[in-house]
Amino acid sequence: MNAGNATTPKLGVQAATKIYHTASGDLLALDRCSLDVPANEIVSIVGPSGCGKTTLLWSMSGLHRLTSGAILLDGREITGPHPDIGIVFQEANLLPWRNLDANIRFPFEIKGEKPDRAWIAHLLHRVGLDGFGGKFPRELSGGMQQRAAIVRALSLKPSVLLMDEPFGSLDSFTREEMNRLVEEIWLDTKTTIVFITHSIEEAIFLSDRVAVLSARPGRVAKEYRVPFPRPRSLEIMATKEVFDLTNTIKMDIVGDRVRPKTPDHHAAEIVRIRP
Ligand code: ADP
Ligand code: MG
Repeated sequence: MNAGNATTPKLGVQAATKIYHTASGDLLALDRCSLDVPANEIVSIVGPSGCGKTTLLWSMSGLHRLTSGAILLDGREITGPHPDIGIVFQEANLLPWRNLDANIRFPFEIKGEKPDRAWIAHLLHRVGLDGFGGKFPRELSGGMQQRAAIVRALSLKPSVLLMDEPFGSLDSFTREEMNRLVEEIWLDTKTTIVFITHSIEEAIFLSDRVAVLSARPGRVAKEYRVPFPRPRSLEIMATKEVFDLTNTIKMDIVGDRVRPKTPDHHAAEIVRIRP
């Protein structure tokens, strides 16, 4: 849980380049992409579909190797999966033949470690899954399965949690509920979180910073600081400042494709909140 010194980011991405070698040729997914994730912050990554967000997250987790560049955790390069880094995917990926308790125990079995039962009970309580340990995935809603996946990731006490569009397949009410839950967990644990989403509203609700990736090959084109106080109430989310920041980021991502070419378009009126 060493956070390094004040200037060392918790997680550093340095000139990350990833080329996929495919049957139809080489594909440049990330091109010298750099990003610093400060300790105890939530940083969201947004960008057009296919721009390399998942590639970047997998690289950050050590699950796959970069072609060049480096990922640093507390200033030290990582070259493979690291116990301090947890990950939650878009699908909960629970094993269907195991009940919830056994799913949460699974990573401990693989590592040959004893689970911290009190901590897991606390997490289950935290996400509202008290008493559901004996249920099988098919007996749980999509939102509940994703809560279980969050508990499974946090049960290992990572100092960094990576989340790849974790609520992308949930309905919008459940998604809002899950966003509030992530904020609560973060207020509780201050775990450094990297959150990938294609919802700018979700990114702004959750984050201290939003990094906007360019179209493929992915590179951080812009970074915004999100200055709104927490917890982020509906009232805060309805302010003009939030609306303006949402639109500014939206224009970064889709502006070139949808912006009318007339000189008097409304984008000129948008107030940019600088990082
Ligand atoms: P995003 O998550 O932003 O939608 P991805 O990181 O999944 O983007 O993909 C970036 C690009 O790399 C896409 O063009 C995708 O088709 C390609 N890609 C992703 N994974 C692989 C892979 N394992 N092999 C070949 N190409 C891949
Ligand atoms: Mg993706």
